Amino acid sequence: MTQEINFDIAIIGGGMVGASLALLLAQQKPDWTIAVLEAQTFSESGRAQENFDARSTAISQGSVEIFRDLGVWNLLSQQATAISKVHVSDAGHYMGGLIDSAAYELDAVGYVIPNAWLGRVLLDKLKLFSNIQYLSPVRVEKLIPVQKGSQLLLKSGDESFNVNCRLSVIADGGSSPLRASLGIDSHIKNYNQMALIANVAYSEPHNNIAYERFTELGPLALLPLGSSAAAKESALVLTLPSDQVSEVFALSDEDFLQHLQRRFGNRLGKFLRVGRRHIYDLKLITASEQIRSHIVLVGNAAHFLHPVAGQGFNLSLRDGMCLVDSLVQGDLAGHSLGELSVLQDYLRRQAQDQTLTIEFSDKLVRLFSSSSLPLVALRHLGFVGLDLLPAIKTQFAAQTMGTAGAKFL
Ligand SMILES: Cc1cc2nc3c(=O)[nH]c(=O)nc-3n(C[C@H](O)[C@H](O)[C@H](O)COP(=O)(O)OP(=O)(O)OC[C@H]3O[C@@H](n4cnc5c(N)ncnc54)[C@H](O)[C@@H]3O)c2cc1C
Repeated sequence: MTQEINFDIAIIGGGMVGASLALLLAQQKPDWTIAVLEAQTFSESGRAQENFDARSTAISQGSVEIFRDLGVWNLLSQQATAISKVHVSDAGHYMGGLIDSAAYELDAVGYVIPNAWLGRVLLDKLKLFSNIQYLSPVRVEKLIPVQKGSQLLLKSGDESFNVNCRLSVIADGGSSPLRASLGIDSHIKNYNQMALIANVAYSEPHNNIAYERFTELGPLALLPLGSSAAAKESALVLTLPSDQVSEVFALSDEDFLQHLQRRFGNRLGKFLRVGRRHIYDLKLITASEQIRSHIVLVGNAAHFLHPVAGQGFNLSLRDGMCLVDSLVQGDLAGHSLGELSVLQDYLRRQAQDQTLTIEFSDKLVRLFSSSSLPLVALRHLGFVGLDLLPAIKTQFAAQTMGTAGAKFL
């Protein structure tokens, strides 16, 4: 007979979003039992699983506050680099804009954290909660909606078992096979761009400045790594047209550094070294439905954004905060866990933040990846605006710091 296990909440996918949400839930409601079901192996030695990969993530001040409340910021901050300024520029033009944390009386606009460290800290914290079970490697093969909950069919190696839960949280990533299996459509906007990720070293200290530079081939971001005054390394997110990515990927280190130098310029001196390169396909994917009775989609499964503005994970954390709050309020009001009206309340409260953040990332990419003359003119106006028009600068800064649509925080 197939083994059956019951939980209040099953989170399918223990990536950055699934793991963070489990912590948010467990902290708020110690009496809810939570399963985190992750297909990849979680090593007991505390090393991160593969999906907490070689990338680094820029997190906003708003996200720092969430991690502080979860009691993990003191550990995360050990490997976090403060971003004191964000420099935004357009290749071929002298105009640029600067978002300076000092102008907002903040220590930092945000922080850069290696994904591997983020994963290790989150997964170690999960183990401390007696109401969370992190099961890995287990793959959810099927989700069957039943009355007031779901039945999940799981596979771990040759073994099969079932999980019954009142609320299923689908956090299985951008391609989300479960989203598709439930017949939920996704709207896909193809940017025809891919991101090449690598750590790079250069000759001048970064002085805790993050750079966003827009070039004809697409945007690039350099996020500072290392907190010493002499630190000269950044995490690079280099956007390329899809049909050129393999050519650039295959360049020798020396030729790659020259390519980067041409696109970025000399603000960090001479590019000297590049680490292992990785490639990610870039699309805007939005699920046509994020909630159904006793089911909610979160993280990349709900919305997968272009990474250049560093918004995807930050938005998902704010979604997570709001979701947990709606669930707790719903519980207090006597609603059953996962009841549609409660999930509708969550989505209604987060709709503005989601729309603003998705539109911000999308418009930024389109505006700054185009060589069409009206858009080029518009972006030059944008740069003038960034320095001269306080309203535009405030919107850009608020989005970067994670406070633009977040009435909730
Ligand atoms: C290049 C790049 C740079 C980025 N930089 C930033 C940044 O600076 N700031 C920012 O805010 N955001 C950034 N993002 C976005 C951020 O990475 C995403 O928001 C985040 O990774 C989403 O995590 P997730 O947990 O939703 O999905 P994933 O990380 O894809 O995790 C999904 C998990 O589900 C598991 N899974 C899948 N199917 C099953 C199944 N059937 N059963 C069990 N488990 C399953 C997978 O193994 C995986 O662990 C960046 C994204 C990219 C691509």
